[in-house]
Formats: sequence, structure tokens, C-alpha cells
Amino acid sequence: MIHIDFVKGGPVYGPLDSTKMAPSEVSQSAPHHHSDHLTSQEKVKVIEEKKAKKDYSGLLPAEIGTDYNFKREIVWKNAIGFLALHLAALYGLWVMCAYCMWKTDIWAAIVGFSSGLGVTTGAHRLFSHRAYKAPFVTRLVLILFHTLAGQNCLYIWVRDHRQHHKYSDTDADPHNANRGFFFSHVGWLMSRKHPAVISKGKTIDMSDMEADWLVMFQKEHYKVLYALFAILLPSLVPVIFWKETFFNAFFAAYMFRSVFVLNMTWLVNSAAHLYGNKPFDKYMKPVESSFVAFVSVGEGWHNYHHAFPWDYRAAEFGAKYSLTTMFIDFLASWGLAYDLRTTPYHMVQKRVQRTGDGSHPIYSEQAKKLEETGKLEDSDIAEILKSKEHGMRRLVTAQG
Ligand SMILES: [Zn+2]
Ligand SMILES: [Zn+2]
Repeated sequence: MIHIDFVKGGPVYGPLDSTKMAPSEVSQSAPHHHSDHLTSQEKVKVIEEKKAKKDYSGLLPAEIGTDYNFKREIVWKNAIGFLALHLAALYGLWVMCAYCMWKTDIWAAIVGFSSGLGVTTGAHRLFSHRAYKAPFVTRLVLILFHTLAGQNCLYIWVRDHRQHHKYSDTDADPHNANRGFFFSHVGWLMSRKHPAVISKGKTIDMSDMEADWLVMFQKEHYKVLYALFAILLPSLVPVIFWKETFFNAFFAAYMFRSVFVLNMTWLVNSAAHLYGNKPFDKYMKPVESSFVAFVSVGEGWHNYHHAFPWDYRAAEFGAKYSLTTMFIDFLASWGLAYDLRTTPYHMVQKRVQRTGDGSHPIYSEQAKKLEETGKLEDSDIAEILKSKEHGMRRLVTAQG
């Protein structure tokens, strides 16, 4: 068997090294609490009784599942707030098109893009998954960018996201996609939390975040920082530097910009859990979505990401077109990011052949060949890889 790794440079850590995994990823294989002498029917009964008592302690994700009879309680204050935000954002779009100076529109785009990178590069890949390491200056800038986005403080963002991975698409997942597009997109932010979310939320290991004073400083002073960096700074720069009106700048660089980026982020929780293929693991809900990858600067290769959450690229081939990955590579080239973790080629291959839905362009073909002929030569693999690489190059030339 030949081993080809697509990633050049940077140490490659296998996921079996638990010391390099985010705490939430390690605990997935926590020991089972049920006594093994129970029959499966008795086990089901014990689980159902626990759930009826809202006691989720010791229950595994598959045991929690989704209770489709659960009635969500709407938090009207949030629902009306989000409706108002979206109406204001639509008005902001109109203001951008009809009244703003072109510099203000470009500024709104720059702020939106930076805040997006704060979410993907910072909150997601660095802080939630520890997919790479970063010195103080990188963390400082990423936390500032993340504050621009106004998606709650990092601490809560990361806790919710680790919980999302650990209990994906169950009642303990804050945005369980089994409850549909609207709930996983924004509905979860305007509903009372399911008791399983509250109960399991307390079990998420956040010790690494608690040990980072920068993270805790943002948590402590989030409201002030939000007002300063998400609202005032974006709205004041156009006023000070090119004499835009505060009204125009506010609706473009705060209202429209922040609600737009929010929706692009939410698409990862909604669309990327619902519409697409599953080349890496057909037993989970997340999918590969080039559309979501495009609008979320590289976070739409979500079947891969849930299969290999420690991988800083959050994608396999899609990584080549991921702005977030390019940005991390750029940081790494300046020493501003290091210890980038990836997934060895053979591990991805094994996973595809074991659990993929057959849509993987390379490894699925291999699996088919293996089934037909009973064997696979190294030369076969090299052949398929070569043709694939050729295909990628052709694609690049065609686009460029
Ligand atoms: Zn997800
Ligand atoms: Zn993730």
C-alpha cells in the first residue's frame, strides 16, 4: 500500500493522538454507563425512563436521538428581535445600493469578510477544534475579527460548537438539523433550549478556553466590546475618513453586513446538514455543499469536517478553494500559525471505503474495483490519483 499525503509542509498529526484533540472530541468515546447484562429491550426501557425524567446523564448521542413530539417554546423577545434585525438589514441593502458612497460599500464588504474570517479561522478552526496553534498576536486579531461579527462571545460560540459536534443532530445538539431547515438555521436562537442541550452543555470541557485570559476578557466585557467593534467602529470609519453620513454607514457596515454574515454562518448548520452528498460518512447528517463552502469562505465541506473535525483544512479537495484554509496557510508561512493538523491520506481512504455513500471521486472507484477484482494494486491507486490530480489541474486552468 502506498501512502500519499496531499499536504505539503507542516507536521501531520493523526487523530489517534488524543493529546492533540479538542476535549470535546476525545470524550466521544466515554465509557458506557449501562450494565451490559441488561437485554436490549431492558436497555431501551432504562433510556426512555431517564429521558422522561429529563435525566440525560451518561446517555450517548445515539441514545438521546431526536424526540419529534417535543414542543418547542418560542422566545418571543428573540423572535421579534431577529425579525427586526432582518428588516433593518434589508433596508440596509437598499441604502447600500441607493445612497452609500462606493467606498462605504467596499468598507462593508471588507468588514464582513474580516468578521467571517474571525468566525471560520478563529472561533471555528482555532478555538473550537484546536486544528492548529497560534501565537498571541494571531489570537488577538482573530478575537477582534470575531467580535466584529457579533455572534456572541467566543466562549459561548465554542461551547455550542463543541456540543454540536459531540451530539450532532440529536436533542442535545443546540441546532439539531433533524428539526428542519428553519430550526437549524435561526429557529434555535429563538426557542427555549431543549433540556438535553442544557444538561449536556454543562459537560463540555472548556478548560482550555478558561485558561486563555484573552477569551475570558472578551467574555467578561462582551457587551461593551460588541458596541465598540461590531457597531461603532464599522459605522464611524466611513464618517471619519470619507465623510459618509453616520446613517448610511450604520445601515451598510453594521445592519446589512452583520446580518448577511450571520446568515452565511447559519447555512453551515442548516443547508450543510441537509442538502448534499456524503462521500466520507453516510451514517451522519452533515453533507458536502460547494454552495455553502463558497458563501461561508470554506466551511461547506461539512461531511468531511464532521468525519475529521481536527483537520485545519476542514475539507479534502475543496481545501484548494477555501479562503479560510488559504488564510491559515498564509499565517503559517509567516510563523503566525503552526502545528497545523491534517488527516493522513490512508485514513480518509479507509473511512470512505467503510462508511462513504459511494460518491467520492477517487476512493469510491477503488472500492468498486476492489469488489470486482478482489484486489487493488498500488499502481491502481497511483493511476487514479494521477488522473484525479490531472483533473484538478485542468479545472484550475479552465477557471484561471
Ligand atoms: Zn455541523
Ligand atoms: Zn466544527
